[in-house]
Amino acid sequence: MSLNTRIKTIELINSKQSFEFNQSGNLNIKYGCNFTDAKNGIDYDSLSMIENNILTFNMSINFDYQAECGRCLSVDTINSKNARDFSLNLDAENDYELDLKSEFIDFEPFISEMIIEKLELNYLCNTSCKGLCPDCGINMNRNNCNHDEKKLKESPFSSLSQLDL
Ligand SMILES: [Zn+2]
Ligand SMILES: [Zn+2]
Repeated sequence: MSLNTRIKTIELINSKQSFEFNQSGNLNIKYGCNFTDAKNGIDYDSLSMIENNILTFNMSINFDYQAECGRCLSVDTINSKNARDFSLNLDAENDYELDLKSEFIDFEPFISEMIIEKLELNYLCNTSCKGLCPDCGINMNRNNCNHDEKKLKESPFSSLSQLDL
């Protein structure tokens, strides 16, 4: 189920205390070799209020994402958490294009930002990952293959061996 990230602005304006809002669901994000999709859950817990046109909120997230190893291309699922406080003047222009006239306060850009902040751009399944065989493309962490040097030079994959992965 797609993650519900919106609160009615009027509810926050009318609330006398901080307004608690918790949701679970999925959000599709792709960033470098990392991504989240329908298989990865995101939970968030927010406490927000609007006072004197200032929106302040605390946001905690707990989520799973998938990361592709830069050497062997295997994909791992990783759990991560993040928490942050935000403060936004709804009377002034802001990066999130939110103002008091917005029908909803949409947390999605804040949640996406907090997820991206935690992703590993140069993810390796293991610092000693052996990567793919430059000759046959086999995953060398799980398999062994022996090729003589001549064969290696002729292989369409041989140029891969010159890359510093
Ligand atoms: Zn790897
Ligand atoms: Zn091989």
